Amino acid sequence: MDRTKSDTMHRVAVEHLVGGVNSPVRAFKSVHGNPIYFDKASGAHVTDIDGNVLVDFVQSWGPLIHGHSHPEIIGAVHEKMLNGTSFGAPHLGEIELAKKVKNRFKHMDKVRFVSSGTEAVMSAVRLARGYTNRDLLIKFEGCYHGHVDSLMVSSGSGLATFGIASSPGIPNDTVATTLICPLDDIEAVEFLFREHGQEIAAVVIEPLPANNGLLIQRNEFLTRLRTLCDEHNSLLIFDEVISGFRFKHGSYSDICGVTPDITALGKVIGGGLPVGAYGARDEIMHKLSPLGPVYQAGTLSGNPLAMAAGAKTLDLLDEGAYDYLDNLGAFMEEKVRAVLEKHGNPMRLVRMESLFWFSPGNLDPAIRADQIPSDAGELYADVHRELLERGYMLAPSAYEIGFLSTSHNETHILGFVEALDDSLTHLDWS
Ligand SMILES: *Cc1c(COP(=O)(O)O)cnc(C)c1O
Repeated sequence: MDRTKSDTMHRVAVEHLVGGVNSPVRAFKSVHGNPIYFDKASGAHVTDIDGNVLVDFVQSWGPLIHGHSHPEIIGAVHEKMLNGTSFGAPHLGEIELAKKVKNRFKHMDKVRFVSSGTEAVMSAVRLARGYTNRDLLIKFEGCYHGHVDSLMVSSGSGLATFGIASSPGIPNDTVATTLICPLDDIEAVEFLFREHGQEIAAVVIEPLPANNGLLIQRNEFLTRLRTLCDEHNSLLIFDEVISGFRFKHGSYSDICGVTPDITALGKVIGGGLPVGAYGARDEIMHKLSPLGPVYQAGTLSGNPLAMAAGAKTLDLLDEGAYDYLDNLGAFMEEKVRAVLEKHGNPMRLVRMESLFWFSPGNLDPAIRADQIPSDAGELYADVHRELLERGYMLAPSAYEIGFLSTSHNETHILGFVEALDDSLTHLDWS
C-alpha cells in the first residue's frame, strides 16, 4: 500500500503540530509507524490522502456507533447548522438530548452537558468533592478518565497507596489527593477506606475498563465498591464515557446491577461531535451552579450541532441496531477465534457486544492491568502493520480496543478474518 502522500504530509505536519498530531495515540508511535492522513470517511471505510481505502475498526475511538458520515446524522446537523452554529443560550436540542440520556441512566434526575469526556469526568470529580466537602479520590490502575490532573495518577509499586503522577506538570499536592488501587482487589479498597474513610470524596472507576484492554470486572467487585461508598458517605462515580449507550440492556450500571451516584458520559452521546455529560440525583446536581455553589461552565456546552448529532445517534440506536451489533460481534468472535486457534492462540479475543480487544498471549483474558504481559505491544505492532497493509485498520496500540458500528457487515468481518489469517501466516506464528 502506497502511503507517500501521508508520509510527506507528516513531515510537513511536524513543523506545525506537536509530533504532527493533536492527540498522542494518533502518532502511531507504539506500532512504530507514521500516522495516516485521512481524506474522507463513509460507513465502515476511510479513504486516506493517497487514495487507499481501509476498513476502520477505530471509528474515531468510539463515538461513531453508526459508522462514518451516517446520512441521517449529517442531515440532522446540516439542518440545525442553518439556524446557527452556537447560541450560548438555551435551546430545545438540549432538553431533547437530556431526556434521552435520563431515559437510559435512571439514577439521573438532572444532566449537565459539556464538550468532552475529560471535561465530564473532571466536572463530576469537582461536584463530588463539593458535595461531600472532602478531597480524596480512589482510582484504579488501568482505568483512564481523560487527562484530568487528579486522575492522571498511577501506582508506582502496584500496592494500594498514594500514586505517582503519570505526567509532569501535575502538582504534587494534586497527586496527593488520589489513592490508587489495582482493579479486582477489594481488600486494597477496604484498606484505603479503613485508613482514610472519612476523607474520601469519591471512588472513580470505569465499570467496564476499556482503555487498557477490555478488563471485564466481576460484578461482586463493583457491588462491594457501592457498599463501601455507602458505609463511608463517599460517592461512587462511574465513568461510562466508552460503555454508555454501547449495550442493548442499558448502561453498564444496569448490566452489573450497581447504581453509581454520578455517571460521566461522552463519545457515543455526541455521535461524532464534541459532547460530554454528567448526571446524578437532584440532591447532588443541585449543588451545581447556578443552583448551588460548585462552579462549572462552558462556552460551547450544549452546542446545537452537537446536541442534534447526539440525539439522532441515540434515536437510531433502537433494539434492532443493538441486536445487529451484538450478532455481528458474535459472528466476528466465532471466526476470529477459529483463526487464532489455527495459529496457536498468539492472542485471545475479548468481546462485549460491539467492543472487542485482542488480549495478548494464550492466557485467560486479563482483568487487572498487571496481568497484561509487558511484551504485548511488540506482538501487536506486527499484526497491526500487516493488517493495515491488507486494508484493515485496528487502533494503533495494543491497549486500545476495537469498535464495531452498524455500518460494518459480515463481508467486512470475513475480509478482516482472512487478512488476520494471512498476517499471522506471514508473521509465521504457528
Ligand atoms: C475517552 C475517554 C475519556 C476522555 O474523553 P475525551 O472526550 O477524550 O476527553 C474519559 N474516560 C473514558 C472511560 C474514556 O474512554
